[in-house]
Amino acid sequence: MSRYREPVCRLCRGEKVKLFLKGSKCLSEKCPIERRLYPPGEHGRARRRIRGYGIQLREKQKLKRYYGMSERQFLLFFQRAEKKRGITGDNLLAMLERRLDNVVFITGFSYSRDHARQLINHGHFRVNEWKVNISSFLVNKGDVITFREKSAKHEELKAIVDSNKNKTVPGWIEVDSEKILVKILSFPDREDITFPVEEHLVVELYSK
Ligand code: SF4
Repeated sequence: MSRYREPVCRLCRGEKVKLFLKGSKCLSEKCPIERRLYPPGEHGRARRRIRGYGIQLREKQKLKRYYGMSERQFLLFFQRAEKKRGITGDNLLAMLERRLDNVVFITGFSYSRDHARQLINHGHFRVNEWKVNISSFLVNKGDVITFREKSAKHEELKAIVDSNKNKTVPGWIEVDSEKILVKILSFPDREDITFPVEEHLVVELYSK
């Protein structure tokens, strides 16, 4: 998979939305989106009218970048969502939201989704007592996510959890910051996903 090596804030500016790729900077005044809500580059301010395919493509890119996925991974998720019963767009969003890297980030156990992936790859987490080092692992109802015993004593990791103690988490997740433990209460509903995306455009794009 080719890695994106440019400053990640350019991605947000390109999509004109906060993708939350830089940890605490995203919530501060230093976030470039707060001052320059237009695409980067010499012609960033020029009016560009996109329609049809362009709009669908932008929506897909926005979602893919928000969850930090490659094109191939994202397509695989879409194909799995398509095979499930129900509305494909809703299935896709629910699956993306259930990724372990996303859960680690939204519960405040990492600075960003990218940081969550690093922690997971380094084997810091357990799901139901089993070590899981796959970021795309999908959590299920009833799962309990904790730090590994050794990792729970790690000062830097404890500091991250402490600093995010008051973070609001969606209703399908329960966090116990004292025990450093996350419990999955249910599957996420569409209303639980607050990121502004029109998933039906992604479905239309892939259905061509
Ligand atoms: Fe950069 Fe975060 Fe702001 Fe995006 S949301 S522009 S990653 S600081």
